[in-house]
Amino acid sequence: MIEQNKIKDSFVGTLVGCGVGDSLGLFLETMSLEQIRTTFSIFNNSRPGFVTDYLEPFERVAGEPHYFSKFKRGEYSDDTQGTISLGESIIYNKEIDPNDIARRLVTTFYENEIKQKSWGKAVTQGVVRLAAGEHWTKTGIDSAGNGVVMKISPVGLFYSLNNSLSATEFNEKLVNDCKNISIMTHRNSQAVVSGCVQSKAIDYIIRNNVVGNYKFDVDDFFNNIIDFSKKAHYLSGFSGTDPEPYWDDKLKQVYDLVKSDASVEDAVGELGSKAYCMESLAFSLFCFGKYPSDLEECIIQTVNAGGDTDSNGAIVGALCGVLQGNSAIPLRWKEGLEDYDKICDVGEQLYFTALNQK
Ligand SMILES: [Mg+2]
Repeated sequence: MIEQNKIKDSFVGTLVGCGVGDSLGLFLETMSLEQIRTTFSIFNNSRPGFVTDYLEPFERVAGEPHYFSKFKRGEYSDDTQGTISLGESIIYNKEIDPNDIARRLVTTFYENEIKQKSWGKAVTQGVVRLAAGEHWTKTGIDSAGNGVVMKISPVGLFYSLNNSLSATEFNEKLVNDCKNISIMTHRNSQAVVSGCVQSKAIDYIIRNNVVGNYKFDVDDFFNNIIDFSKKAHYLSGFSGTDPEPYWDDKLKQVYDLVKSDASVEDAVGELGSKAYCMESLAFSLFCFGKYPSDLEECIIQTVNAGGDTDSNGAIVGALCGVLQGNSAIPLRWKEGLEDYDKICDVGEQLYFTALNQK
């Protein structure tokens, strides 16, 4: 593939991967790994205990209503809505403009009443305050949820084709943008740095494995994001809550699990996989480090491990999608995904925006 087409395929793959992981994981949200294995032991003949394709909406537990019972097969949720909204803002403004991102966040929230139910607590509270006219620098609450990291991939894509910044300028700008996007909903250093780490991971993969065309090197990848997480923590100069653990220690723990070839079950036990960003991103990075060259298996393992399955799917889907490109995503997943053509279009336009940035 000509290099430019390959890069464009990676941009599109990042957004489609997010949508695919989100939609595959949606109906499994909050189940545990054990519950998923038991529930689907009879549902899936080809691979008992695992969900390998989009599900029809179903009520999992009698008497327990779930917001997603109104969702259709292949429909995506807040994670992909947030990613598309952020991508469209960057395309429109040709830069990362927190004022516009905040405006679009509100519009996106109110445009779909069914999807609205999938939005997390911090983002919902932020939106309500933004809609009431408060400035985005004041609307975030002290939450370390994964509402920032799940939607941040367009920022990493945008910077990945910028070659005019020095390393110091790049770090400062990336951290500042991720911080602004975070604090409108999550005023918390773990949430801010989670967005920085995912953006850097996306940027790293485009520069080294897509443009640079090197084979993916798991050691170099983790060393890079560990090192960056330390800088991001410092640069974010956080004046709000700054609880431990810090991301560099968490990422070292993830890297150790990958190096020791830990099982997915062991990693869930050690890291967790719930909506807390230190669990959700850490577990997603573990799965990505364990299955970097097998997009399908990586996404299946991630969403079938329980916890915040749709957001973990969205995070890992973006990572696998950027590395392997949209062409590597199984056709059955692309064909079944809501708004597939629109998502591809946003990915393509984001590519041209990133390529032509000043
Ligand atoms: Mg969701």
